[in-house]
Amino acid sequence: MTKKQKIRVCPRCGSSKIREAKTSVSGWLVPTTYYCSDEACGYSGPVYVEVEPDEAEHLRRVINGNED
Ligand SMILES: [Zn+2]
Repeated sequence: MTKKQKIRVCPRCGSSKIREAKTSVSGWLVPTTYYCSDEACGYSGPVYVEVEPDEAEHLRRVINGNED
């Protein structure tokens, strides 16, 4: 059984440009925030979507409303 490498995508636009924002304030442990580096989206929040690469393409089509 082959395990596919999953990728992180933005839950708002489906872009794989989701990034992890490391925020450490004076040693305090704070929740990790993720943000989308796609300027047209601007998502920032505590969650991301983890999908397989072929699912990511499907997700983008669904989000963009282009699915047949
Ligand atoms: Zn996005």
